[in-house]
Amino acid sequence: MMRKYWPVLVVMVAAAALCLSCSTKKKVVTGTQYECKECGKVYRDDTREMEVDRRLAEELGVEVVEGYCPKCGDEPMTLDQSQHYKCPVCGADGGTEVKKVTLERKLSDTVPAEIEVAKACPTGKCAKVGRLREKYNWDWQVCAAIAEQGIDLGFNQDMVREAWGPPKRVEKVGSAEKWYYDAETITFGASGKVVKID
Ligand SMILES: [Zn+2]
Ligand SMILES: [Zn+2]
Repeated sequence: MMRKYWPVLVVMVAAAALCLSCSTKKKVVTGTQYECKECGKVYRDDTREMEVDRRLAEELGVEVVEGYCPKCGDEPMTLDQSQHYKCPVCGADGGTEVKKVTLERKLSDTVPAEIEVAKACPTGKCAKVGRLREKYNWDWQVCAAIAEQGIDLGFNQDMVREAWGPPKRVEKVGSAEKWYYDAETITFGASGKVVKID
């Protein structure tokens, strides 16, 4: 009887041996470790020891991510940044300049090496737009409109004065104010913004 079944027995023993090897566990440390680029300290450790299949263990390991520890990340740092100037009025290229910018170290990775900066041309209409922008920091489009004597609803009194000069006469009507020019009358609402242009 035994003699007849021995090949089956051999297969069973072999299978059991295979299964034994496949279930062999191994201890590995795996996960992510955060190392400070500045001081080299591991400031966060998300690794842990695990018992995994021996074959899987070879594939697992510790991933090291470089960053800044809380101490180094809070320190300010200075870096070179090239600023490419472009006139927002006419689109002319204003050249490139390298500037030192100071920021928190932890933000340094997100700062692009070159940025585009809006800077009006130094002559003509662009220069006037640039002066308005520098003085009031209004929107570029608003400055450009004022430079061409354009006014619009929502403008404040400074904007109207810059575009058209001082009014000939001012009249208070309740909480509103009317500014009279030669041909037009501008009404400012209680908020001080233009609500009507006649
Ligand atoms: Zn550090
Ligand atoms: Zn320009």
